[in-house]
Amino acid sequence: MANVETKGVIIKQNDYGEGHRMLSVFTDKYGIIKAVNYNAKRMRSKAASSQFLSYGDFVLYRSAGDVMTVKSIDTSDTFQPISESIVKLALSNYMSDITYALLGMENPDERIMRIFLNALYALAYRNEPPDKVKTVYELKLMSAGGYMPLLDGCASCGSVAVSSFDIDKGAAFCDSCKSGAAVRISENAYRAMRYITMCEDKRMLAFRADKGLIAELNSVSERYVKTYLDRGFKSLEYYYSMSDV
Ligand SMILES: [Zn+2]
Repeated sequence: MANVETKGVIIKQNDYGEGHRMLSVFTDKYGIIKAVNYNAKRMRSKAASSQFLSYGDFVLYRSAGDVMTVKSIDTSDTFQPISESIVKLALSNYMSDITYALLGMENPDERIMRIFLNALYALAYRNEPPDKVKTVYELKLMSAGGYMPLLDGCASCGSVAVSSFDIDKGAAFCDSCKSGAAVRISENAYRAMRYITMCEDKRMLAFRADKGLIAELNSVSERYVKTYLDRGFKSLEYYYSMSDV
């Protein structure tokens, strides 16, 4: 067995035994992996580098089991401003949860990792509203993960006069073709969804939207996530309970 090197970002950390930490690390080479950082709570340098959202170069030791051992972490960013906001922290937890729910363990996806890091960067350094980052991440993650919604006019007749989005079908429809289950969406929401799902990943937040539009997008995108990942998320409820105060 050998040491492996990879870029990674810590998406979960729990206490483990006496003074150790169990980390879930989203790595570019191996996907999401679990790794124990021994004595992480006793040594100050190790404690700092094994925080939630620490990003950098990891050296890991892979023995026979599923769990790796951290040999070293060379941190290049901690997205520090996120940890100063309980709302941003709650959102980052939710984004980590849906990413894990989509990818599972050891399923590398460098594109999704970049999208995840883009979202963290926007939250930490760009002062983008958390609700905007949330809906964009939900739509971009699902699109990159194989659940791209059909947003090229009405999915049935091709009309550009789209007025609703059917979550179960993952497609937009016009008034005459929509089924009863479809939710109404405004033209602006349709345009924004098209932009988010089809734009270059690094431009995913480069559009203007007022609060009303962001709220409309969120109501669609979070139901979309819930439907295709087939579960709800406690971290989403927590995010809303923090956003309301
Ligand atoms: Zn139609």
